[in-house]
Amino acid sequence: MPNRRSFLKTSAASLPLVTAIQTVNPAAISVETIADVAISGQAPKLIPLPARLAPVDPSTLPWQQKIRRVGQSNMTEHDPAVMNIEDWADYWHSAGADIVFISVTGILAFYPSKVQFHRHGKFLNGRDFFGECVAAARKRGMRVVARMSPDLNWGDALDAHPEWAMRDGEGSVLLSGEDSRLFRTCMFTNYMDDYVPAIMREINSLYDVDCFYTNGWPPIGSLPNCHCSVCSRLPPPNTTAYWRAFNDRVLQLWNKYDAIAKEKKPDSFYFANLGGNVRCGPNLDRLGRTAVWFQADNQGRSSDDPAIWGCSLQGRVCNAVMDGQFAANVSAAYSTGTVRWRNAAKNPAEAKMWLNETLASGMALYYHFIGSEAGFGEDRRWQKLGSDYFQWARRHDAHLTPRRSLANIGVIMGQSTQLLYPVPAAAHAHDYMRETTHGIYAALLNGRFAFDFVHEDRLDLERIRKYRALLLPNIAVLSERQCQQIRDYVRFGGSIIASFETGLYDENVQRREEFALGDLLGISKAGDMIGTNGNAFYARIERSHPILDGFSNTNWLPGAQNRVPVKSVPDPVLTVVPGFVQYPPELAYPPVSHTQEPAVVLREVASSRLAYFPGDIERTFWLTGHGDLLRLLHNTVRWVTQDQALVHVDGDGFLEFFAWETAPGYAIHLLNYTNPNAHHGWLSTVYPLGPQTVNMTLPSGVKVKAVDLLRSDRRIPFRLEGSVLHFTIPRVDDYEIAAVTVV
Ligand SMILES: [Zn+2]
Repeated sequence: MPNRRSFLKTSAASLPLVTAIQTVNPAAISVETIADVAISGQAPKLIPLPARLAPVDPSTLPWQQKIRRVGQSNMTEHDPAVMNIEDWADYWHSAGADIVFISVTGILAFYPSKVQFHRHGKFLNGRDFFGECVAAARKRGMRVVARMSPDLNWGDALDAHPEWAMRDGEGSVLLSGEDSRLFRTCMFTNYMDDYVPAIMREINSLYDVDCFYTNGWPPIGSLPNCHCSVCSRLPPPNTTAYWRAFNDRVLQLWNKYDAIAKEKKPDSFYFANLGGNVRCGPNLDRLGRTAVWFQADNQGRSSDDPAIWGCSLQGRVCNAVMDGQFAANVSAAYSTGTVRWRNAAKNPAEAKMWLNETLASGMALYYHFIGSEAGFGEDRRWQKLGSDYFQWARRHDAHLTPRRSLANIGVIMGQSTQLLYPVPAAAHAHDYMRETTHGIYAALLNGRFAFDFVHEDRLDLERIRKYRALLLPNIAVLSERQCQQIRDYVRFGGSIIASFETGLYDENVQRREEFALGDLLGISKAGDMIGTNGNAFYARIERSHPILDGFSNTNWLPGAQNRVPVKSVPDPVLTVVPGFVQYPPELAYPPVSHTQEPAVVLREVASSRLAYFPGDIERTFWLTGHGDLLRLLHNTVRWVTQDQALVHVDGDGFLEFFAWETAPGYAIHLLNYTNPNAHHGWLSTVYPLGPQTVNMTLPSGVKVKAVDLLRSDRRIPFRLEGSVLHFTIPRVDDYEIAAVTVV
C-alpha cells in the first residue's frame, strides 16, 4: 500500500521545489533538511503544538483514573471445583494488574446468595468462592470489580416471572441460542429494577468490592427487538423514538445501579458493557456524561469485521466521548472470532497487536481469559505474554498515559446514522456504514493523517475549533442544530469534506427534500440516488486543481458505487460520466460521455475550504482499494487542511500513528500494520519497518531532554532547529513508542 512518501514520489515532478522548502521553517533549514524534503516530496506545513496543559496533581484524581492494567479470568461454573485461587491471584499480582474482575454471577451465584432465583452453581457446594477470591486479591493489594451478567436466567425464574422475558412477534419467549434452558431477560421489565439491585445490595452487605459491572447489557452493535408487554407499548424498534426510549432506560438503570454501588462507599460506582465502536447501542454522548469507566468489550477480530485496527478504532470512539475519563479495552487472550475456542490461546502476534492498539489509542490495558480448568488453565500459553506485556507497560506508565490528542482533523462519527440510517437498497451492503467507516479510516491511515473522532452531539465550537477540517463520511442523519454548528465552525474558519447523503435525513431519520448543508456546500439535489447496475460511473477531469495532483494521462477517474445527482455548478473540476453496462463488453461504453453533473463540488469561503463528493467514495474505496480514490481523498484532505499538520511521520510502510501530549512530554505511537494478515486472519508474525522520521514544532519555550523508544528500550538522538523537533525511529517491529521528555 502506498504511504505518503511513495505516494508523493510519483507526483514530485509536478511540485515546485520552492513549495516544498516553504513547508519548513525557513530559519531552520539546513542542507540536510533540504535533502530530506527533496527526497520525500512535499511535507505538510507544521503547525506549532498548542501550549502545554497545566500539570495535574495525581492525588486529586479518582482512583479509577490511576488504573492502568486490568486482569480477568472469567469464571465458569466449574471453576469452584478446579481453580487454584492462589495461582490465580499470584499470576495477576505478579503481572502488575491494578484491579481484577471477580464473578459475582453470570447466570450462577459464586457465593451462597439468598436472592431468589439467583441459582448456585452446581460445583459451589455452599462454598463462598467469590469471597475467597476477593480476599486473595485484597491480600495482594489488588482492587476488585464485582462482575455480574443480567442478560439470561433460568426456567424457574421464568415460571415465576413470565414478564421478565424478551418475546418475539408471536409472543414466544426468546431463549439463549446455545442453551435453551436459559431465557433472555428484557431490560425494560422489573427484572432489571428488582433482581439486579437485590444482588448488588447483597454483595455490598457481605464483601468489600471497589465497583460493580454488568456484562451482557446494554446490547452492543444493535438495539433490542422485543415484543413483551412492556416493549409493546414502546415506539417501534429501529426508530429514533425507540432509540430515545432505549437511551432513557439505559441511563435510568445506570444511575440507579450507580447509586446502589455508592450506598456503601462514595467512591464506588457502576459501569456496564460497552463496545461496538461507532455502532454502540447507547447514545455515547449521553453515556459519556455519566460513565466513569468505559468498558470496551471489543476483544478481537472476526472474519465478519477483519480490519486490523478494530481496537484502536474503539479507542478513538472512547476519546470522543469520555473527556479523559477512564476507558479500557478487553483484549481476549483466548481465540475470539467467528469460530471460537474460549479456552485456547490465540496467536501471540495477534494478541499483542490488540494490546498495542489499546495503549496507542489511549486506553488502559485489559487482558482476559475464560475458565481455569486444571488449576489455572489447560492452556497456559497466554499467561507469559500478558505478564511480560503488563510488566513492560508498568515501567512506562507516565509516557503511556495520554493527556491530549495532537490531531488536526476531526471525523464525525454519526451514531444515529450508524444505527438508524436506511442503507441504499441498491448497495446490497452487508454493513454499509461499517464499510464507510473503514473506508475513511483506511484512507486517513494510508495518508498518515492525525485524526480524532468527533461525536455528532458534540459539535460545539469550543470542542471542534482545534480541528483544521471536519470530515463527514456520509453522515446522513443531521439535525438543524448540528447543521448550524457546522456552519458556525466554517464561519470560524474550519474546512469540510462531506460525501453522498450527508444531511439528507433529519434527526428523526425523515428524508429531506434537499441537502441540509446545501447552502454551505453549494449543492442542490437533481434527483434520487443512483446505484450501479454493471459498470459504475466515472468522474471526468474538466480542469486542473490541487485535488487532482498526480493524475496524468487519463481523462476520467473511477467514481463510486452510488451517488446522489446534484445540479450543475460553474466551472466544475470533475463531472459525472454515468454508469453503463459492464457485460457484455460490446455494450461497455458510455452512451453519454459528457454531462454537466458535478462529481465533486469545491468551494473556498475566506480561509475555509469545502469539498463535497456526491458518491459514496469512502465506502467504495474500502470495497475496491482503488488507488485513484485514495489519491483523490488524500489530495482533498490536504487541500481542505491547506496541508497543515501538527505531527508528521514519514517513512515506508502501512502504519497507524497516534500523537499524544503526556505529563512528561509527548508520545508518538506507531502501529505496524504492514502484514499479509492486516485484513484477513490473525497476525502470525511481524514484518519490521525501516526508518520513520518524526517532525513536530514545539510550543515556545519548550525544550527536549530526551527521546526514548519504549519498545526497543533505547535512547535515540534528536535535533532541534529553532522549535522544530526532528528524530528518526530506526526500526518498528510490531509497535514502537517514541517518548519525548521535555523540560
Ligand atoms: Zn421487552
